Amino acid sequence: MERPFAWKKYQKAEIEAVMAFAAEYRDFLSRCKTERECVSFFKSQAIKAGYRDLRDVIAQGIALHPGDRVFADNRGKCLAMYIIGTDPIEHGMNILGAHIDSPRLDLKQDPLYEDTEMAMLNTHYYGGIKKYQWVTLPLALHGVVVRKDGSRVDVCIGEDPDDPVFGVSDLLIHLSHEQLEKTAAKVIEGEALNVLIGNRPVADETDENGEKKETKDAVKANVLALLREKYNIDEEDFLSAEIEVVPAGPARDYGLDRSMIMGYGHDDRSCAYPSFAAMLAIDAPRRTSVCLLTDKEEVGSIGSTGMHSRFFENATAEIMDACGEDASRKIRRALANSKALSSDVSAAFDPNYPSVMEKQNAAFFGHGLVFNKYTGARGKSGSNDADAEYVAEMRRIMDDAGVFFQTAELGKVDVGGGGTIAYILGNYNMQVIDSGVAVLNMHAPWEIISKADLYEARKGYIAFLKNA
Ligand code: MN
Ligand code: MN
Repeated sequence: MERPFAWKKYQKAEIEAVMAFAAEYRDFLSRCKTERECVSFFKSQAIKAGYRDLRDVIAQGIALHPGDRVFADNRGKCLAMYIIGTDPIEHGMNILGAHIDSPRLDLKQDPLYEDTEMAMLNTHYYGGIKKYQWVTLPLALHGVVVRKDGSRVDVCIGEDPDDPVFGVSDLLIHLSHEQLEKTAAKVIEGEALNVLIGNRPVADETDENGEKKETKDAVKANVLALLREKYNIDEEDFLSAEIEVVPAGPARDYGLDRSMIMGYGHDDRSCAYPSFAAMLAIDAPRRTSVCLLTDKEEVGSIGSTGMHSRFFENATAEIMDACGEDASRKIRRALANSKALSSDVSAAFDPNYPSVMEKQNAAFFGHGLVFNKYTGARGKSGSNDADAEYVAEMRRIMDDAGVFFQTAELGKVDVGGGGTIAYILGNYNMQVIDSGVAVLNMHAPWEIISKADLYEARKGYIAFLKNA
């Protein structure tokens, strides 16, 4: 089957719209590099667009009506947005789900040490990474430190052009004979992903007699002094911190023709952003529209902010109650009658590595929104396999709305595979299909997408919310 190449079909006005949406997304991607930063960005935009906090709805006993917009914030790392439809929620919702966590290095709880006058930070990587890709790159520190008294400091160092950057070193080629004998999985090991952050000592202190006394680990002490001065935090405050080490610098247009974007965290923000944008483009839908932006997908969707959490179910029950629908009886029907696009990135066909793909069932740049009937590994293990009936409905909706879409598998049958949040939504007995944007270099520090695919994703998500 031939699927059209979107760029060939676009008229001038559409190309302008593609580029404009891409610029908006590129800006978001440059600013939001952690799940917390994504939630605070989306929340502030949502509030501007008239969304109310579910907490206020509950506390003030506000009754919700069709067209009302509400968000539920789960610990600042996961966000559910709702637009109440004219149909009862019991009849089901149209849900866009995507994740906002991305592979990275996290600081360990006791990270700071000094070795040979170098101040270093211990890290523990998060998600599936090729460790050798994370060395010799400018890295930034993003995150929060929560002091014992509960006060919180937001940290972001390495993004302003005047900021310093950090990094993980690699061995010089001249001394790498033994290292290069190792398999790629072992060339850089997890415990070698230590970030260099300083090389200058604090000034020696003088005691009451005017005698200089040498400070032990003076370079580390200097780093701590700087942290105290800039953020008012102590070494012990690292115990209750979440600092993520991510590639430093903005997302960039990619290619001489500017048809692509290189950035950190396209997986899965290239689906999260168009999902969010689709919600802003929707007015009083028939079925309640939902956008669910979750955390912890890269480590199995576990924990209170991952898709396995009861958060979404509980928030939906509160929304139903506020709509005057008895959630205690009807929440299960609402979930089972729902339809979802589990939006996550697909592997784009890479001409440098054709052997891992079966070309007829691969995703290509510029061919639009990707639907995966199933993902999983080998014998479809761990996949959600969407019903043929549901796939047919998606085909109809996309074709009616003129959305360019393609279908794909994640590589050749026996080569590998991966999962998404689709099966977890499927556990509610709702209809779910995987869909998303094709990504090159997936899980590398700098990933690439096509602007056309990003644009078609938003178009497809809007069509889904309106017509599913
Ligand atoms: Mn993903
Ligand atoms: Mn991923």
